[in-house]
Amino acid sequence: MIIRGGTVVTARGARVADIAISDDGWITAVGKNVDAEGEVINAHGLHVFPGGIDSHVHFNEPGRTEWEDIAHGTAALAAGGCTSFIDMPLNNLPVTTSVEAFDLKLAAMERSARVDYGLWAGLVPDNLKELKGLVKRGAMGFKAFMCPSGIDEFPACDEATLREGMERIAELDSILLVHAEDPDLLREPDGPRARDFGPSRPIEAEVRAIQVAIALAKETGCRLHIVHVSTRQGAALLGGNVSGETCPHYLLYTDQDLAHLGGSGKCAPPLRTERMKLLPMVVSDHSPSTIDLKGGDDFRKIWGGISGCQSTRQLLLAHGVDALMVAAVTATNIANRFRLSNKGDIAPGFDADLWIVDLNHEDVIRSEDLLYRNQFSVHAGQKIRGKTVRTLVRGRDPGKGQFIRPAVRS
Ligand SMILES: [Zn+2]
Repeated sequence: MIIRGGTVVTARGARVADIAISDDGWITAVGKNVDAEGEVINAHGLHVFPGGIDSHVHFNEPGRTEWEDIAHGTAALAAGGCTSFIDMPLNNLPVTTSVEAFDLKLAAMERSARVDYGLWAGLVPDNLKELKGLVKRGAMGFKAFMCPSGIDEFPACDEATLREGMERIAELDSILLVHAEDPDLLREPDGPRARDFGPSRPIEAEVRAIQVAIALAKETGCRLHIVHVSTRQGAALLGGNVSGETCPHYLLYTDQDLAHLGGSGKCAPPLRTERMKLLPMVVSDHSPSTIDLKGGDDFRKIWGGISGCQSTRQLLLAHGVDALMVAAVTATNIANRFRLSNKGDIAPGFDADLWIVDLNHEDVIRSEDLLYRNQFSVHAGQKIRGKTVRTLVRGRDPGKGQFIRPAVRS
């Protein structure tokens, strides 16, 4: 197969070039007037990005599939130019904190994932003995909560558990992801209104928890990643062996927007008084539910989670993030940090994971265009840029995903 004449966008630059793809889905050449046989895709006037890698989604299967399932979630990813994802160890049932649960999730992915998939495992109190087996099984790394997760079966780790977990994870040369909010600085909202919610989860709770996690990572030598960083103060602490991600909802909205977003804008950490800045990794934290859980008069009772994995790239492009940066923050940097070899770039030897897109197209997000199991999103009505012409996963239309393990460092 050959893709002719598109503007090839990578984190390194953009240029018009052909991309040749082997029968088994590898990129064999990128350049001018490349020779190749087979299907020709005419990409003149279009852009070709490395396929997006959404390293933070909750597809909830097996278990809470009425909230989201793998077939719908991965169809949505492909529609938005993502060719790989890494699924969180909750809110599926059982939670992915044992080898047995990992195998159940893996079997579900094998059945239904339309794009390539990796799996995060959980670090919770009392599962230290499972960590080694989970790494052997191919877990990308581990996720822990420093505050209640919102799901009873996935309890938070106190400092002692985190320290012990980090020691093991460092020995296994894996990585720990933390949801960083200090439970001692969280409190019950003062009332049922949306505007009572933000102050109950203050900025200091995020900052303090990130500081604690970083201190433990230094002490143990563990690789550390902070999920969904929502404040500039928190972001200022990142660097060195500590990475972080943010999400479109923290970039686009503030707590003032909750008045019109309503329950669909409830998440933790909450939308802040100030918009977040771009970080080297942008992920969706797609964590949907049924629509009834996102409504009601009492904001305290509303499910905290954002639906959004279909639109990350188109939102960034519409809000002025330049194309090279979009390639970097939604693909290249994520592949590098989490050791996804042969993904996240367009170059010979890489998987032909590609997003062919018409960047002249501007539109708004309509609920009826969303492919989620539950067709709603906080981003409905938002402007987007880029119309997906074709998404290729290892040179093929989305259909059958493959399991991705992290590369082992020699
Ligand atoms: Zn999440």
